[in-house]
Amino acid sequence: MPEVDLSASRRCVRCAACLPHCPTYAVAVDEAESPRGRLALMDAWSRGILEANDEFWGHLDRCLGCRLCESVCPAEVPYGALLDRLRASERAEGRPAPALHRILRRLAGRPQALALLGRVLGPGAALGFRPTSPLLPASLRPLAALVPDPRPRAWRPPAGVPLRPAATGDVALFLGCYARVLRPEPLRAMLRVLTALEIPVVVPPRQTCCGALARHMGEEKEAERLAARNRRAFAGARTVVALDTGCLGSLRISLTGQETQEAGACEVVEACRFLDRILPPHLPTARVAPRLVVHTPCTHRSVAGNPDAVPHLLGRLGLEAAPWGRGAGCCGAAGSHGLLYPETAAALAARAWAPPPPEGASILTTNVGCALALGARLRLDARPGKICHPVEIIDDLWSRALGGVTGCHGMFTKMGG
Ligand code: SF4
Ligand code: SF4
Repeated sequence: MPEVDLSASRRCVRCAACLPHCPTYAVAVDEAESPRGRLALMDAWSRGILEANDEFWGHLDRCLGCRLCESVCPAEVPYGALLDRLRASERAEGRPAPALHRILRRLAGRPQALALLGRVLGPGAALGFRPTSPLLPASLRPLAALVPDPRPRAWRPPAGVPLRPAATGDVALFLGCYARVLRPEPLRAMLRVLTALEIPVVVPPRQTCCGALARHMGEEKEAERLAARNRRAFAGARTVVALDTGCLGSLRISLTGQETQEAGACEVVEACRFLDRILPPHLPTARVAPRLVVHTPCTHRSVAGNPDAVPHLLGRLGLEAAPWGRGAGCCGAAGSHGLLYPETAAALAARAWAPPPPEGASILTTNVGCALALGARLRLDARPGKICHPVEIIDDLWSRALGGVTGCHGMFTKMGG
């Protein structure tokens, strides 16, 4: 009988409220690929009724860990915590995490190595590899497809941004591991917006990956090692701002000991919520606006908990951003899941892109994994459009209103205040 405590799985009352929200159930239409089915598997295994064979692990491994089920569960089954616990026990019993996951997790803490790999694999790379190149091993093609053009390089802060450990009372910016290399534009935009608002912000240099990749794959020691390093880097910070909702939960656990945002010595805040809180009442608003649609990442629904933050924030600036996608509309990224299970990822992406976003629209998303997956899909389909973090839109709007500094996308032609 396994020693891990999965008794909370018995709180499930089999009501099925979670089923329409589960992306893997939506594509497989199989009870064992649903939250309810997976909870029943966990329960049976923990009682010693069911053997943990390959079929058992397959159903659990295909779970995205998106926790959309948890966010709608009337019985408050702590699905994410149960899954993390199960995976930790799996690792403790000697079943290793997939090799590709371990490579991705190691790269997360090594931005220079990640940038180098991106420049070798990426579409603009010196070696000329395209994601479809026959020279590239099949297992690396999905990874190569994610690397955006232009060639990635490790992030450097713009001149004038204090690059120092957080001191008591600071607002500090969390960079993310993959984000700082593969999508640094939103970070630069956020720093420009904060500078325009005269909000002093520091960037602790010794910060590292939030640990989500390790935590959700059951690699507890590694997650705690990263958490300890981030605690040292952000010690004293009053507010830590994170742009990527995929990092939010793990970063909160690392810095505050809990995933929910409670008032305390340190808060970890999603960037749009932070900006909504600090923006002054009278703002420059857009008179001519680009076409915007919002893709809401699973983690913005299930962890950040304020999926309306983006339309609300942009609405204050006179911008309309229509929702794009549907419930159970995972883009197929889901951390390392999309690379480990490309067939499931492709089925999820096909579902998410039906219907596709309006031609030429900018797709706003608050998570780097989704941004990379959506960008890869745009490139694959040779479809006009851009993937932006909402902060880039605000930067673009404000940069022009404040004197013509070039914004990330140059979308606005006229401003009014
Ligand atoms: S919503 Fe909660 S209680 Fe209902 S079936 Fe899903 S996990 Fe079980
Ligand atoms: S975490 Fe996501 S994929 Fe896994 S069972 Fe819940 S809703 Fe489905």
